[in-house]
Amino acid sequence: MTALKFSGPVLGEQGEEVRDLYVVDGRSTFEPQPGAETAGRGWIVPGLVDAHNHLGLEDGGAVGEEETLAQALADRDTGALLLRDCGSPADTRWVQEREDLPRLIRAGRHIARTKRYIRNYAHEVEPADLPAYVVQEARRGDGWVKLVGDWISRDAGDLAPSFPAEAFAAAIEAAHAEGAKVTAHCFGRDVLQGLLDAGIDCLEHGTGLSVDQVEQMATQGVALVPTVLQTDKFPVFADQGREKFPAYADTMETLHARRREALMAAHEAGVALYVGSDGGGTGRHGYLWEEVRAMHEMGMPAPDVVAAASWRAREWLGFSGLEEGAEADFVVLDRDPRADLSVLAEPERVVLRGSVVAAR
Ligand SMILES: [Zn+2]
Repeated sequence: MTALKFSGPVLGEQGEEVRDLYVVDGRSTFEPQPGAETAGRGWIVPGLVDAHNHLGLEDGGAVGEEETLAQALADRDTGALLLRDCGSPADTRWVQEREDLPRLIRAGRHIARTKRYIRNYAHEVEPADLPAYVVQEARRGDGWVKLVGDWISRDAGDLAPSFPAEAFAAAIEAAHAEGAKVTAHCFGRDVLQGLLDAGIDCLEHGTGLSVDQVEQMATQGVALVPTVLQTDKFPVFADQGREKFPAYADTMETLHARRREALMAAHEAGVALYVGSDGGGTGRHGYLWEEVRAMHEMGMPAPDVVAAASWRAREWLGFSGLEEGAEADFVVLDRDPRADLSVLAEPERVVLRGSVVAAR
């Protein structure tokens, strides 16, 4: 098999280094390979990571394999080569058998309170059954379990925690006993302290976080995936609910108004932030670059967002950057993404498992 050669600044935690990177048998090497075929030049960035997306899920619930395939290809062709699925009712394990599709880390199916989430998405359970479902999904998934931490309560007329704090704590303990990490959908404030005190591993959205809580997250090593494209829709959710649930509408408006403050407090506290498009969960696939831009517009410096979308997220999820011998998953860009994030929307080359899977 002919080796491929890519030349240019290779980005990673150490900054950039202009190198010739060779691909042999799906691996990256910096050992010169005689006869290698030049396959691309530009800024070479370790494969991008969509840290919150949903394969096999659309507005109405699970979709079939054909649509799931289109979602995975849309992500792949824009350089998202590692997907952290944050809950899907579809069995997408077959994606992991396909060499041409992004690497996938699944969280099984969302677990929510009865009638307290988008219809057809989640296992909907009562508190007493929560640990058993957590164990089931921990065994079905790839090391993560996804809880719906809060959602509108029609009884309360407002956003409210899905379960009592003790039930969340029992769920987290059950997942950890299975060797799985736990993340939770959290829009509001009230759910957060219980989850953090119970040792949750990651929070999704996190618009209700206080300064004290982000400091606790940094201390405990709890990650945050803010999904700015998703929280951008809060005014729409507020308007949809205002007539029947005015308190909920006010809550969503307030959370929207302070989401920048929450995100930047987390960034400044040193919380590990990752980039999640929420594709599939009412968002579309293939738009990780839009989430990168949205996080930058919230105030995160471009180099930090690029790192969060690439090598830092890869390391968090157990994958490599572009070290000697690492999996050859990367994108080649014709401009430095740290200087111009828009280039992430149009990679020159997308290389997955050592093969050029997309080229402009
Ligand atoms: Zn989601």
